[in-house]
Amino acid sequence: MKKQQPIVIAIDGTSASGKSTNAKLVARALGFVYVDTGAMYRTLAWYCLQQGVHVEDSRAVARVCRQWKTSLELAEVDGLKCARLLVDGYFPEKEIRTAATSAAVPHVAAVKQVRAWMKRTQRDCARFGNLVMEGRDIGTNVFPETEYKYYLDANINERLRRRAAEGVHENLAARDQRDSQRATAPLMIALGAKVINNSEMTSEQTSGLIIEDVRKRLAAATSQE
Ligand code: C5P
Repeated sequence: MKKQQPIVIAIDGTSASGKSTNAKLVARALGFVYVDTGAMYRTLAWYCLQQGVHVEDSRAVARVCRQWKTSLELAEVDGLKCARLLVDGYFPEKEIRTAATSAAVPHVAAVKQVRAWMKRTQRDCARFGNLVMEGRDIGTNVFPETEYKYYLDANINERLRRRAAEGVHENLAARDQRDSQRATAPLMIALGAKVINNSEMTSEQTSGLIIEDVRKRLAAATSQE
């Protein structure tokens, strides 16, 4: 009997468009493993800063990425299954959310060798089962073959408001611009992705749309088997 490939739900979009909140809600509702790929790029940025590596020096960043000692773990956080990247056996949960890491991350994320490493590592998460993976290039580059692609966005004032409510004041437009303009795997809408502008929607409404769409299509796929 042919082994079933894990299902991957790709959720991409701009910064503070609600990817994490909604990806977690979708993963919980469907019992899938949640993967935050931004956290993986943030971990590399943090690790470079720790090592005193200049994040704008792409060769040095590529070298770190070749040599760092990492592993993937399947953790359960508040009842949600999550695949996480550890460096030297450690998940730097708090450290990766600082302003210094946020400013450094688009630089490391623009390095070609880093993106190739991340793609391999992120695809490897499928060994944990069905996934809800959020990021910037999941539907375009990491799992382009998946049928379940969603792209979230919201207007810039709403996104700034959401970050401010979390106590974070950041130049989101600058980060989005870097992410959209880099040469390798830039942020863009994947072919066939469902675009959801959730400026005036709650996360229950946004995740509800995704869950309903996935369930409908899964049921249709099963009935065709
Ligand atoms: O999602 P989050 O805001 O934590 O992502 C941090 C940064 O990591 C993004 O601004 C982007 O530079 C990078 N990133 C990426 N590709 C992904 C996920 C994140 O380039 N799939």
